[in-house]
Amino acid sequence: QCSAHCPVGAIYEKDETRTLMRAIRDPEKHVAVQIAPAVRVAIGEAFGMAPGTISTGKIYAALRMMGVDAVFDTNFSADLTIMEEGTELVKRLTEGGTLPQITSCCPAWTDYMEKYFPDMIPHFSTAKSPMMMQGAITKTYYADRAGIKPENIFSAAIMPCTAKKFEITRCEKMYSSGQQDVDLVLTTRELARLIKALGIDFNSLPDEAADSPIGRYSGAGTIFGNTGGVMEAAIRTAYNLVTGKELEDVKVNAVRGMEGVRRGEVDIDGTKVRVAVAHGMANVRDVMREIQDAREKGKEPPYHFIEVMACRGGCIAGGGQPYNTTDDVREKRIAGMYADDEKSVIRCSHQNPEIKQIYKEFLGKPLSKKAHELLHTNYTPRPLYRK
Ligand code: SF4
Repeated sequence: QCSAHCPVGAIYEKDETRTLMRAIRDPEKHVAVQIAPAVRVAIGEAFGMAPGTISTGKIYAALRMMGVDAVFDTNFSADLTIMEEGTELVKRLTEGGTLPQITSCCPAWTDYMEKYFPDMIPHFSTAKSPMMMQGAITKTYYADRAGIKPENIFSAAIMPCTAKKFEITRCEKMYSSGQQDVDLVLTTRELARLIKALGIDFNSLPDEAADSPIGRYSGAGTIFGNTGGVMEAAIRTAYNLVTGKELEDVKVNAVRGMEGVRRGEVDIDGTKVRVAVAHGMANVRDVMREIQDAREKGKEPPYHFIEVMACRGGCIAGGGQPYNTTDDVREKRIAGMYADDEKSVIRCSHQNPEIKQIYKEFLGKPLSKKAHELLHTNYTPRPLYRK
């Protein structure tokens, strides 16, 4: 993957930072950049900060200093993902549908599933990943409100993940705005390199805020970057969707931690929802085989909802994050994400005022026709090797 890990320098990391700078210098282009949840607790390591230090405001400031026109946060669309995926789960639970529902926001996992577990396709949530949702609404909802033609928007994403570079062209649904919804992915490492190359003193930057209306987020959006975070965020909103009430304590301890597979039961107004969280592909395989085994024996599925992340620890330890990610580093980044959630005034996706606004002004309601066109995708069995 990288020259830093190849003793003879035969393999090197592809760097796309110049593509972003070319777009910024192009007077025809309006450059909109989103940053993923997990980037904020790791990029500081490239500038001497401790793992888990939250640098959100400095990242926004650095992007603006580079000349980026609009700075958005993928945490916003993580909230949007929860609205769609949580509604999909409640629908499957109450109206009948394939269970367990399995999360689909990790492109390494969806690619693996299409190749090795195609029988699991009906289990997958059709919700796109937060990155792809953000790209689609940037080139539709935002473009319309800002009075900019979608073809003049260059939509870039800063991600902790190398698989996200593949995801932006993975199928025709990644072009739902009529354009490629996300034009470029840079990893956390690439952004750190670019900040250094431009001579920006990252540590001295003031904390700035994201642009509106697709930049505000809840604590639930933040924790997406941790293993168990998507599950916890979904439970916070599913509880509200089913009961109309709010959880007194939004912390879901059963799904937190570093165990490879965590199993639990969540009580939603008397309904016992069986959940599992798996991270690291060997653990994921074990859980998939449990489902296949139950199916073959004609038994009830062992779970209603499963969260899967390919990387150990979740996106906080993705392939695009600063190197030397030990378990100690993972735990510090995870703690940083939970701390960011705890200091958030809004802790649940459905309470985010900008989420309410986009449904009112543009999408209608979760799983609406427009939401399906822009925010959902499909999966297909794929051969192991492409010709
Ligand atoms: Fe990418 Fe890893 Fe996160 Fe999956 S878990 S989206 S591979 S960083």
